[in-house]
Amino acid sequence: MGTVAENIKKALSTLPAGVELVAVSKFQPIESIREAYDAGQRKFGESRVAELIMKTESMPSDVEWHFIGHIQTNKLKGLIGKVSLIESVDSERVLELIDRYSAERGVVTDVLMQVHVAREETKFGWPPAELIRFFKDRIYLKLASTRIRGLMAMATNTEDMARVEADFAEVEKIYYQIKNIASDLKDFDLISMGMSDDYPLAVKHGANIVRIGTKIFGER
Ligand SMILES: *Cc1c(COP(=O)(O)O)cnc(C)c1O
Repeated sequence: MGTVAENIKKALSTLPAGVELVAVSKFQPIESIREAYDAGQRKFGESRVAELIMKTESMPSDVEWHFIGHIQTNKLKGLIGKVSLIESVDSERVLELIDRYSAERGVVTDVLMQVHVAREETKFGWPPAELIRFFKDRIYLKLASTRIRGLMAMATNTEDMARVEADFAEVEKIYYQIKNIASDLKDFDLISMGMSDDYPLAVKHGANIVRIGTKIFGER
């Protein structure tokens, strides 16, 4: 492991143009985030609301915070106006609340729909068929203060890279299906997938946001 600055430089050198790096800083101290910031990194990913809010107060205001964790509806309100992208929207209920709280605050919130493709019971996200149904039924037309920007996904947690690649390929397919179904949906242009151990495969399948924690900051 190099320094945080070296690790960021190395990660960036492996990303093609147009792919954004989100440095996943969950559970990392402010000093480490500051090191990344000083190296030029501006996008950071956090998975807990209280931790994210605390960190926004300790970091400069040009940091773009991405929320990537499971959303508890009773804590959701605290995120609105503080994050540049909520990546982990996994239900219509969460989306309705984001829209309502955003309207109340007079902001527009950008979100990704988290799609569940992993062969595991434990991960959150929309089952693909339900997500497709959501777009076919044009439910997104009800949103006034929320912009659906694309999809977020995690692959199955396995050493079997063929399985991981198949998961990413499925997300890519779903993304183009939705683009086709909801061709009126402006700004649906982001695919966030790929973590420290699998991001090159994600990029191969259309990811334009990768979320890298361990390879930048070390073990949590
Ligand atoms: C923790 C986390 C990551 C980063 O994982 P690493 O293996 O440390 O790179 C990416 N995405 C989500 C949703 C996470 O919770």
